[in-house]
Amino acid sequence: MPHLILSDIHANWEALEAVLADAGQYQRILCLGDLVGYGADPNRVVEWARAQELTVVRGNHDRAAAGLDDLEDYNPAARAAAIWTRRSLTQVNRLYLEKLPRGPHRVEDTGVAFDLAHGSPLDEDDYLVQMADVQPLRPHLKTPLTFVGHTHLQGGFVLLADGVQRIVPPGVLKLAGDFYLINPGSVGQPRDGDPRAAYALYWPEDEVVEYRRVEYDIATAAAKIRRAGLPDALAARLEHGV
Ligand code: ZN
Repeated sequence: MPHLILSDIHANWEALEAVLADAGQYQRILCLGDLVGYGADPNRVVEWARAQELTVVRGNHDRAAAGLDDLEDYNPAARAAAIWTRRSLTQVNRLYLEKLPRGPHRVEDTGVAFDLAHGSPLDEDDYLVQMADVQPLRPHLKTPLTFVGHTHLQGGFVLLADGVQRIVPPGVLKLAGDFYLINPGSVGQPRDGDPRAAYALYWPEDEVVEYRRVEYDIATAAAKIRRAGLPDALAARLEHGV
């Protein structure tokens, strides 16, 4: 059975529900951080996380919501959402976020080892968007496969001996021995032009990753954001997937 790879849920309950219903059978949920921030259901998502045997590394928004960040590097909408989330969380849910481990986190399964990170394996706040962001990482990668999130862009990169190639989803990817940085995309706030929730499945024994997208109730998630008094742009971007 595959692992279910989730990232950047961002307090979007409707998107998370749709992903879980679509994923079918899986053995374990591996989460790359940003459970909360931007969306209107932080308590519901954290309560779901607490009830799972979730393997999870923290994201920058989890850190912000837990009060571990001064929010200096946040744009106004992200800062407003972080402050709203901090105020909305119950004490026990805030504490759960505060204790989330920083990545990278090593997972071993059927003799295969791979890493989970939020931003890059070197820094949870780094965005891997351009080839130039990825090229310098090669000597630092400890395993052939690292799952990363943070950019909300489904895909990732393969590092070959003579350069970096971008992985273009959707579809099934057979891993072939090089170094991979795989981004499952964002469950709760996709930014790659496709508003459907994004996630991935990973079969370690077959060395196969499948990129998936699923429709969800965007109207309800957006309406909750507006009703909570969060910035309207956070609702609008769900509708457009950017
Ligand atoms: Zn995020």
